[in-house]
Amino acid sequence: SSVPTLTLNNGVTMPQLGFGVWQVPDDEATSAVTTALEAGYRSIDTAAIYGNEKGTGRALATAGVPRSELFVTTKLWNADQGYDSTLRAFDTSLDKLGLDHVDLYLIHWPRPAVGKYVDTWKAFEKIHADGRARAIGVSNFHPAHLQRLAENSGVVPAVNQIELHPHLQQSVPRAYHADHGIATEAWSPLGQGKDLLTEPVLQELARKHGRTVAQVVLRWHLQLGNVVIPKSVTPSRIRENIDVFGFELDQADLDAVAALNRDARLGDDPETVN
Ligand code: NAD
Repeated sequence: SSVPTLTLNNGVTMPQLGFGVWQVPDDEATSAVTTALEAGYRSIDTAAIYGNEKGTGRALATAGVPRSELFVTTKLWNADQGYDSTLRAFDTSLDKLGLDHVDLYLIHWPRPAVGKYVDTWKAFEKIHADGRARAIGVSNFHPAHLQRLAENSGVVPAVNQIELHPHLQQSVPRAYHADHGIATEAWSPLGQGKDLLTEPVLQELARKHGRTVAQVVLRWHLQLGNVVIPKSVTPSRIRENIDVFGFELDQADLDAVAALNRDARLGDDPETVN
């Protein structure tokens, strides 16, 4: 496939562009993931809470793509935080996916007020040491949460998956990640297909490059060094979203996108999610 890879801090390589399946029902996940694999995606991002690990696993099993070429991510749901409950939840996820290992396992949210993410991380370290997750990481962690984890554990997360798009550019977390060897993975990279895609500046860039706004936004992420996992269930858009390696934004284009930042979240502030 034409998708470049990033090398994570433990040497594992991860495709820089993958396919997200949040809000895709279990039965539809099979056809959506199958379409994505046919279009050339090799990285799939699911989560226990999405309720579609089975449907995703069915597509992985029948696509005829060697397991070694796939990069499968799933996430631990909030209610399962804690050492023993994490190990049990991970077994359940593997079972639903029909896999003997995942490529990346993420703590879905830090829940700082609950105070269990350090214990949870110890279970992640065991899962990693046992070879059942090739890499382990976190999601929705603020730099302060990453700092607390660093002070209380031995393994630095390979990835922090956070909300990131031109309306929420996350310069402070991105700088922290870069300083600490943590890859930045952007969730809702297209701003969930809402206001972002009608920004006149982006429409102008799309015209300039003969591309769609979604493609311009994905290109911006890739040139920043982010991992991106756009979601669609529409086959033409699934193909469109991976067709982003044949053009390049110039510095003026990147500056124009930088000016769109509003520090505006679509999702909840991780500090308050429990
Ligand atoms: P997204 O930014 O990928 O937007 C998806 C929506 O944009 C689609 O439903 C569709 O409406 C529209 N769209 C997609 N492609 C398009 C195109 N080419 N042209 C026009 N419109 C298009 O939003 P998302 O699904 O929220 O995020 C992507 C993935 O990130 C999720 O599927 C999930 O895997 C992950 N995610 C993780 C978290 C987390 O807490 N870790 C939270 C949200 C999402």
